[in-house]
Amino acid sequence: MSPSPRKLSSVDSPEGALRIGLEHLEEAYLECRDMRHRWYVSSDYRRVTTERDNVRPRLGHHDYVERRTTCERCGIERVEAFVLVRDRNWTALRSLGNVYHYPDGYLLKGLPAGIGNASELIRGLRFERAETERGEAAAPATRKRAARKTARSSA
Ligand SMILES: [Zn+2]
Repeated sequence: MSPSPRKLSSVDSPEGALRIGLEHLEEAYLECRDMRHRWYVSSDYRRVTTERDNVRPRLGHHDYVERRTTCERCGIERVEAFVLVRDRNWTALRSLGNVYHYPDGYLLKGLPAGIGNASELIRGLRFERAETERGEAAAPATRKRAARKTARSSA
């Protein structure tokens, strides 16, 4: 049985938990975090009201325009909301921000000190995988030692 992302809290260090979390993320999630999502419109612009459509108010607005887009790769859903602003000659949609619905296991917890965001680690992991695929993989310490030796011998 492979460890599931839900058992992360049983790992002894946050770094260890994150590492395990990263390695068990589906490849689709890694690609999306590294290169952004591939959105398609799953529900086009439409007016919604909190009463009729059972939606939450957005920034105090109970009547607004909503559009739902979904990532074809990882399945994350983005719900955009807008205030409808109409003039005699134009119509505008002013953003009220986005809400995201994440698939299970998408979000990561416990970043190590010195790491600004999960994307830095996702890129690092994908970099290591790419090196491994090319047969260039080495533990970071070994790599550093090898580099120093090369520098000395070429001097
Ligand atoms: Zn995605």
